[in-house]
Amino acid sequence: MRQSKLFSKTQRSDPQNEESVNAKLLIRAGYVDKVMAGVYTFLPLGKRVLANIENIIREEMVAIGGEEILMPSLQPKINWETTGRYDAYDTLFKFQSFYSKTDYVLGPTHEEIVSPLLGKFITSYKDLPVAVFQIQNKFRDEKRSKSGLLRGREFLMKDLYSFHADEKDLEKFYEKARKAYVRIFNRAGIGKLTYYTYASGGTFSKYSHEFQTLTPAGEDVIYICDKCRIAVNREVIDDLQGSCPKCGSKTLREEKAIEVGNIFPLKTRFSSPFGLKFSGANGQENEVLMGCYGIGLNRLMGTIVEVSHDERGIIWPKAISPFPAHLVELGKGKGRRLYEQLAKAGIEVLYDDRDATAGEKFADADLIGLPVRLVVSEKTKDKVEVKKRGEKNSKLVSYGSVRKLL
Ligand code: ATP
Ligand code: MG
Repeated sequence: MRQSKLFSKTQRSDPQNEESVNAKLLIRAGYVDKVMAGVYTFLPLGKRVLANIENIIREEMVAIGGEEILMPSLQPKINWETTGRYDAYDTLFKFQSFYSKTDYVLGPTHEEIVSPLLGKFITSYKDLPVAVFQIQNKFRDEKRSKSGLLRGREFLMKDLYSFHADEKDLEKFYEKARKAYVRIFNRAGIGKLTYYTYASGGTFSKYSHEFQTLTPAGEDVIYICDKCRIAVNREVIDDLQGSCPKCGSKTLREEKAIEVGNIFPLKTRFSSPFGLKFSGANGQENEVLMGCYGIGLNRLMGTIVEVSHDERGIIWPKAISPFPAHLVELGKGKGRRLYEQLAKAGIEVLYDDRDATAGEKFADADLIGLPVRLVVSEKTKDKVEVKKRGEKNSKLVSYGSVRKLL
């Protein structure tokens, strides 16, 4: 893509009323625009980042047997009364139709929709197990929204729900989902900083699990066991008397972290109020057991920026970056031949063909943060200067080897 055609532009100074590093950088670099606290528009560059995150998550969910659906944001009050969460869910957006006086909820999550939905299709043990997921906008009336993309009032979530005939099957799938999450966070470049964390399981299970990524921007505190490479969160540390749930070690390390995803054995918490039952092989009626599995896409994007930036800008991991490289031309038209060659080879780069100084272009390239910078100028002749973002040294290579590199 030609940068001269990109309607969004970079900004030289930090936006006002924005405290978080992720939002400051993403706004300055032209990835997102702030509409109000906790609500952002994704600009062309930001939309590409989201699409990359979305594709990774979708691939891994399909790989464990998830079937993709799309449920509505607009939900009836009655479903939330059925589960007792109309009053109990503290960040629920509620409103009334002006015409019919019907009460609605804007979905912060979808157990209240997915449980009765599957109730229409599950009748026998032969219909189980089943797992459905969506990537869809959630709404939450969060009290504080000062963490940029980490805590939005409207945000994209991948939510998967699984349905099982017995506990053993739920546990089997739970483990599959855990592994899929590990793959997702590895592919997103935050695997090394992300810990499988024991959290409270509510009334139905001993534990649920969070995926917590270490960052000073995090709103949670976790306690890490370096030997087991797991953590426990604040809710359960006291119950465990400060020890690791796996090895019993008492030397846990306290760190700030952000929850990028979680997996939760719901068991019959939602199947029960909606009467979600199936008949077993012997004809006996049983309640369906459920699990739910969430990942916040905006939060994941914001987390990547929090853990991967320097004083000059963002440093995107390859798999997440909106383009594989930034082609910077110094001198009108100097980069055109390489841009077209790469395009022919199916490689779309961001091509800085603007009328701007070398200083401005380099500053923008660092701010935008694509993993590789390619410079073509009078000086580079028939070669290209290649530099990785985050590294100091550059080297001169031929057009052909750039193609191979990308
Ligand atoms: P938190 O404790 O941080 O509020 P939560 O426990 O409310 O999170 P869930 O309801 O389990 O989170 O939602 C699943 C996932 O959605 C979370 O793991 C997180 O990645 C993401 N998420 C939750 N709330 C927000 C939000 N306000 N903005 C962006 N992402 C969110
Ligand atoms: Mg919350």
